[in-house]
Amino acid sequence: MKVLETRASEVTEFDEKLRTFVRDMHETMDDSNGIGLAANQVNSLQRVIAIRIPWQERDQEEGEPSEDKKWWHDKRFTFINPVITKKSGKIKYMEGCLSFPEIFDYVDRAALVTVEAFDEHGKKFEIEADGLMAVCLQHEIDHIDGIVFINRMSRLKAQMIRRKIQKRQPTEAVAAD
Ligand code: ZN
Repeated sequence: MKVLETRASEVTEFDEKLRTFVRDMHETMDDSNGIGLAANQVNSLQRVIAIRIPWQERDQEEGEPSEDKKWWHDKRFTFINPVITKKSGKIKYMEGCLSFPEIFDYVDRAALVTVEAFDEHGKKFEIEADGLMAVCLQHEIDHIDGIVFINRMSRLKAQMIRRKIQKRQPTEAVAAD
């Protein structure tokens, strides 16, 4: 929980070590069937995010209206030191998080975001994202700011979830032994 609630630091060296870390992050994300992963979630306090939103899986999700295939579907993205430079509109999505596997809830987000970032070679780029890509970017940028999506829910809901997590942890520790 501590690393998840700590702000990650800017990457300053775009070297081979960083590129290996980025590759590992994408592998971890794929292995856990996630659409996004922030470095904090793998215990590293660097401002690095991996995103890949498959078009097929998106369509199979329950309860969400199906979306047209967008340019960002099925593409692998790495955002280093990402900054949201513009945001507009409102969107609510049923969000989940690899760090809280049993929790899903609607979170208010901006519908459209412009993000500036660097790739793993230190090259600056900018993208404008909508739909699930916009939601995912905001969720992951929250992670590197030390904010978990539970903090974006209503206070009552957040309290309920935290109590549930606290209750569960001791049992899990025993089971893991
Ligand atoms: Zn998450």
